[in-house]
Amino acid sequence: MNKKGLVLVISGFSGVGKGTVVRRLMEKYKNYALSVSVTTRAPREGEVHGREYFFISEEEFSAMETEGRLMEWAGYVGHHYGTPRDYVVGRLEEGKDMILEIEVQGALQIKKKYPDAVLVFMAPPSIEALQERLKGRGTEDEKEVEKRLRRAVEEAEDMESYDYLLINEDLETCVEELHQIVRCEHQRTGVNLEMMSRIKNDLKRFVEGE
Ligand code: 5GP
Repeated sequence: MNKKGLVLVISGFSGVGKGTVVRRLMEKYKNYALSVSVTTRAPREGEVHGREYFFISEEEFSAMETEGRLMEWAGYVGHHYGTPRDYVVGRLEEGKDMILEIEVQGALQIKKKYPDAVLVFMAPPSIEALQERLKGRGTEDEKEVEKRLRRAVEEAEDMESYDYLLINEDLETCVEELHQIVRCEHQRTGVNLEMMSRIKNDLKRFVEGE
């Protein structure tokens, strides 16, 4: 039976280590695929078009939006980000668990449209750790770090809308916890209707056939 994949949304403050956790998760387990977003922000050093993001212009972004080619989109510290629909839908049909690493406004849009989506919010063990990581990353200047920390204050307000809170203290532990969440979500009765009806029918046939 080809089971449809889950939509796994991962959000968390800038610098919390979402990217590292997702990379490790995909290295260890083969049931995942990562959605590559479109963005109007400029590439950081080392980022590759089509790998981290599709880097597009504001005009291209608004064309995608009006043509309904985005599953969700949001503005984030002066730029636009969105999830291309076709790729995600295709991989879900193939049975892949699709990871969307997106911020909170987009996550809430996804939950509304796809109530079965699983929303995970990743937080640091302490805010000092987050500040250190953001500065240490060295990819944003001080102003940008400040903007991102301010945005984190707003994002924290929406943590309660998520299904799970995951603390990223130790990489391997965090990856395992995330994978267990997905495994458990696959066992939910609500997403296993087909299996349940097969069990009931087989049971009936067995009893009646006696
Ligand atoms: P960054 O500029 O650090 O790569 O990303 C900034 C924020 O935008 C992060 O919180 C990231 O998760 C979020 N983001 C990346 N892609 C998307 C997307 O397609 N949609 C939404 N809503 N947020 C995104």
